[in-house]
Amino acid sequence: MAETIGWIGVGSMGHRMSRHLVAAGHALVVADAVSTEKAPPQARVAGSNAEVAALADMIILSLPDGRASEAVARELAVASPRRVKTVIDTSTIGIEAAEAVDALLTSAGIQFVDAPVSGGTAGADKATLAIMLACPSESYERLKPLLALMGKPFHVGPKPGQGQAVKLLNNFLSATALAATCEAIAFGTAQGIEMKTILDIVNASSGRNSATDDKFPRRIMLGKYDAGFAAKLQLKDVRLYLDNARAAGIANEVASTVVDVWDRMHAELPGADITQMYPYTVNGRRA
Ligand code: NAD
Repeated sequence: MAETIGWIGVGSMGHRMSRHLVAAGHALVVADAVSTEKAPPQARVAGSNAEVAALADMIILSLPDGRASEAVARELAVASPRRVKTVIDTSTIGIEAAEAVDALLTSAGIQFVDAPVSGGTAGADKATLAIMLACPSESYERLKPLLALMGKPFHVGPKPGQGQAVKLLNNFLSATALAATCEAIAFGTAQGIEMKTILDIVNASSGRNSATDDKFPRRIMLGKYDAGFAAKLQLKDVRLYLDNARAAGIANEVASTVVDVWDRMHAELPGADITQMYPYTVNGRRA
């Protein structure tokens, strides 16, 4: 039997990712502040995050934001009794929060591994996520087999926050591509061209991107607005990117506009999936 793994946060991503660990024979102990209903049925359900810290050597987090990761890190750092020695955070929390969580855990003698993921709920289901680890090389080699059960691990560098940097720049590109593709498709269909025709041509041309080859054909064109990624989280990610780009003194004109676009969409459609950007765009936004 492989070692017991703790998992905190079994939401859209967490419940899907954690299933692969159970399938590989790991004993799993889970906790979630709201519901553990979707946790793998074989998992032991803990009554608190502190209980997970008492039962597992290693804990994986899949939490909404930096505030949640910091709150959980604080709980784990003071948990008693405590068995946990390593915490791997797969959440998107930004560079500052990753540094804060690292400081909190390191001072309690717990190793922190910054490990955000990309690939959405589909990637979590199929175990094809890109997993961006920022930690010393030895830790990367040690953790690689476990993380490979959920996708493809990459070693970004040794410093906590470097995983976040790559995750944020990726999500900035993805959010930009989706917002821009919604405008471009609205333009093309307004010229009387079928959406499928536009997508087929763009996907064989230089405008191809993750919206044209995935979100549009698989979801939006079929009237399914179910990427499983909330616009609220997308907005969190692009805001974090913009804040981090400003802090680094990097050009951010495009990022400012992209934040503004997602901010307005989220304000008008709270609770929306990111794919609802298309009907939102068609219905007259920015006309
Ligand atoms: P989610 O909101 O569905 O899940 C987060 C879970 O954490 C919830 O079940 C919530 O109850 C739980 N939680 C919050 N605070 C907690 C606390 N203090 N203690 C215990 N549990 C707590 O979010 P998600 O879509 O699963 O995303 C998780 C993380 O992964 C986010 O940081 C997100 O940005 C990132 N991410 C999401 C996707 C996606 O497609 N959904 C893709 C890549 C990365």
